[in-house]
Amino acid sequence: MVACQLPLTLIIAGLYLAAPGAWPQLLDSSLFLSALVLHTVLLLACLTVPWQRFGPLAPLIVPVVDLLVIGLTRAANIENLPDPGVLSVLPVVWISASRLSSRASISLSFAGTLLAGLPYVFAPGPAPAQVRLAGVLLLPLMMLAVSLAMRSARAQLRNQQSRTASKETELQALLADSRDRERLLNTILDTVDVGIVAVDAEGHRLLTNSWQSQLEASAARSGVADTIAPEAAEDVPVLTGQDGQTPLPHGRRPIRRALKGESFADYLVYFGEAPAGRVLSTGGRPLKNDDGGFRGAVIVFNEVTGLVEALAAKEDVVSTVSHEFRTPLTSIIGNLDLVLGDAEDLAAPALRRIEVAQRNAERLLALVSDLLLSANSAVHVFPRRTDLASLVEASLGSAHAHAESSKVALSMDVPAPLWAHVDPLRISQALDNLVSNAIKYSPDGGSVRISASTENGWVRLQVVDDGMGMTAADAGRVFTRFFRSPAVREGSIPGAGLGLSITKAIVEGHGGSISCTTLPGCGSTFTLELPAEGPPPAF
Ligand code: ADP
Repeated sequence: MVACQLPLTLIIAGLYLAAPGAWPQLLDSSLFLSALVLHTVLLLACLTVPWQRFGPLAPLIVPVVDLLVIGLTRAANIENLPDPGVLSVLPVVWISASRLSSRASISLSFAGTLLAGLPYVFAPGPAPAQVRLAGVLLLPLMMLAVSLAMRSARAQLRNQQSRTASKETELQALLADSRDRERLLNTILDTVDVGIVAVDAEGHRLLTNSWQSQLEASAARSGVADTIAPEAAEDVPVLTGQDGQTPLPHGRRPIRRALKGESFADYLVYFGEAPAGRVLSTGGRPLKNDDGGFRGAVIVFNEVTGLVEALAAKEDVVSTVSHEFRTPLTSIIGNLDLVLGDAEDLAAPALRRIEVAQRNAERLLALVSDLLLSANSAVHVFPRRTDLASLVEASLGSAHAHAESSKVALSMDVPAPLWAHVDPLRISQALDNLVSNAIKYSPDGGSVRISASTENGWVRLQVVDDGMGMTAADAGRVFTRFFRSPAVREGSIPGAGLGLSITKAIVEGHGGSISCTTLPGCGSTFTLELPAEGPPPAF
């Protein structure tokens, strides 16, 4: 309150001090002196009265009485003294900025100034009455304008404040929401059994979940990374390639790959030194800005040690068992061959039984060979210039008996010779698989056709049948080991589900590809792409 009152106090004090030199009559004016006393009392009241106790509007008494102080000073009517009425702007600003309603504060500003001007109309002095009246009326109108301007500025300020307040409330709600989401995300990140790392474009860690921290800590415990900060843990030479021993080159480490903007999945790396190393299947995806720029990457580490060990153990068993089966089976087949060599000593029923035993022993040997081949992850091929046409012919020839008994017609549309850069033994095996499948899965007879052509350095070979075909879902899995379609299982058509996976491995071993198009009930087409080769040089 004192701060509000101070400007007027200073001006009145200034008038008082300047009066002896500038306006000596001022000190003789009883009106000015009473104004002076009144203002001093008000100033003391501002200092001493506990205004808050009397309600929020009580302090407004001060500016109202100030208007009276100004009116009295004005009524002193001192010659050469600028009209003190303009000082009314000070109490009017005070009233307009108060908590009074707009209407009340505007009315009070106008009426207060008008009433405080009345003593001036009737005070003695040279000015004519009309001039005084005009002066007395003009001032309240000016104060009305000041009050209106103040109130409208105040209203605008209020609006602004309430908008800011509602924005702030909205922001607080958003902040609380984002904190909730962050908590949820952190809980999820720490609950999952995979390691998750996020890095920015420079490779600085943005996030490492607890699984990943534990993994990195375990590497640190192994002693290799004692002095290395967790964020550099990937730089420790504990990441090795597929053999579990050769350190992974820098650029091939999952985080480095992701930082190069690569997107990958199922990338196997070994963490920690063999034999205690852990196998991790890793995946990475780049993080993009709003404008599509690279801003970092997310890398996921999934431990598959158990799975890899189980697979290795399974393949070991399959390979050992198949190996162990082969020797006695070869001996059985050899002996049966010997017995059949002296067939004239045998009675017809015994001969038939031995022939059945020989056929089944040969089937068993073929199955064991397939198992052995599929247990070895890499199929070795030795490609050379080969005439595919003669391989196709041989394959159809050996399938002839099978086709005849199943009432399937075989045909080929292959230009001869058809040169390709392939391993003849392996490709014969692949062709035999495809042809025998085509016949086997045409239970109601039909036709099987092999066609071939050369284009852009590749031989395109197709084995087409019009047999039972497959659903799209089955077709997507035919090259998976041990897969057999439900229809085939139900129909009790014999097989182990290995032929196509071996065929695929053989074709891919040549750098080629194999695909299948099929429709249930309409047959299947298997298409092979193999590297073509020019004809041999003429002699
Ligand atoms: P197998 O024939 O010993 O079962 P394959 O790996 O050769 O094993 O084939 C896998 C499965 O693919 C088969 O069991 C069968 O369901 C399906 N399949 C393969 N070739 C054909 C074909 N020509 N027509 C229909 N289904 C086929």
